[in-house]
Amino acid sequence: MRNLYGNTQDSIKICDKTSAAFEIPMTTLEQIKFLFCPTKKFLQQKYTDYRLNAIVVITVCTLLWASLWYWDRIIDPVGAEKTLSLRLLFLTNFFFIFVFILAKKISRWLTTCTIAVCLISELLFIEILNRLNGGMTYGLAGFMYCMLVAVLLFKCFSILTNYSYTILSSALPHLAGTLGFVHNFPHLHYALLIWPAALLAVIIQSVQAHDYLLRYHLENELKELSNTDPLTGTKNRRYFMNLLDYEIHRAVRTNLKLSLLVLDIDSFKNINDTYGHPTGDMVISQIAEKCSQLSRDIDIVARMGGEEFSILLLGSNIRQAENVAERIRSSIEDIVFEDPKNKSFNCTVSIGIAELESPHESGHDLFIRADKALYEAKKNGRNKVVTI
Ligand code: GH3
Ligand code: MG
Ligand code: MG
Repeated sequence: MRNLYGNTQDSIKICDKTSAAFEIPMTTLEQIKFLFCPTKKFLQQKYTDYRLNAIVVITVCTLLWASLWYWDRIIDPVGAEKTLSLRLLFLTNFFFIFVFILAKKISRWLTTCTIAVCLISELLFIEILNRLNGGMTYGLAGFMYCMLVAVLLFKCFSILTNYSYTILSSALPHLAGTLGFVHNFPHLHYALLIWPAALLAVIIQSVQAHDYLLRYHLENELKELSNTDPLTGTKNRRYFMNLLDYEIHRAVRTNLKLSLLVLDIDSFKNINDTYGHPTGDMVISQIAEKCSQLSRDIDIVARMGGEEFSILLLGSNIRQAENVAERIRSSIEDIVFEDPKNKSFNCTVSIGIAELESPHESGHDLFIRADKALYEAKKNGRNKVVTI
């Protein structure tokens, strides 16, 4: 199986709870399908990444289109008197920039409006050429601007929006000519100029969209890897401590309970010394898997380091947390591990529990209290659940 790094090794084997982020489209066909039916998250991320880009493009285009009145005067000084008001109308696009600045979320409304504003600008340009003597002959290349806009501005939208605008903006002058809005529209010259350019624009847009897809998945994969413990596939300490503060905030806001379990394997050094380090690793992995199995999907299991785990139980009070902890403790006690020489052995864990007490308690403080409870469990003979 080929992954996005270009090598052929299988993806990292991790627990079910974290594997979703690794489901990336592998084949070219899957990637094309994804580009045409993207997820909302993908579209939003693309828009967020290129929104500033879009604002700069609109600003430059608006100023350029308006200032090209000097170009009108060179072509036809008399006709230019009639195009000044139309050129100034381009400045209304600045209003549209504010819409972009304010709209942080992508929506169908925003996409449709962008296409509409760009097509109206193109119609204005057609009317300007109409009012200039010989304008249509000299101004044909101006339609190339619309094409460049399609490539640059629409980078923040889906590939379908890109294609739609390129085709619509290329066909619009033909339509205006056919419907009689433009006298003697040079259909053939225009077609020879614009349609090959439109084809190139579609190719560039496709390459851009594909590059972004690879970048998006690579970024997500890297983010996931930086939050994941490589041995067990559970979340790591850094992710967990950040999440803990966030979830405490949320629990306080929504008035929900929250409990924290801190689990440590008992006398783990003995297991390493007796059965070897690789067997020790296998024990850590199996215990992580058990913890994930016995907690709900919304709970978060993390390896805090060595043979220590934390489990965040969202919406659970201390009694519910005790039940979960007891279930985990007794299930692990019942596991029969085997070393490479088929020698079987058992292993136990101690668990400390703390429930969020005050809205002002930080993640770090809650963790310290649960860790104290764990220390008590160790002091009282191990293989115990202790609550603080
Ligand atoms: P206690 O019951 O008091 O927790 O005793 P313990 O032996 O479990 O605790 P201690 O902290 O003395 O030993 C933890 C051991 O875990 C020491 C370290 O070598 C081992 N360890 C840490 N990380 C890993 C790992 O990734 N794999 C393996 N196999 N061992 C590890
Ligand atoms: Mg230990
Ligand atoms: Mg330890």
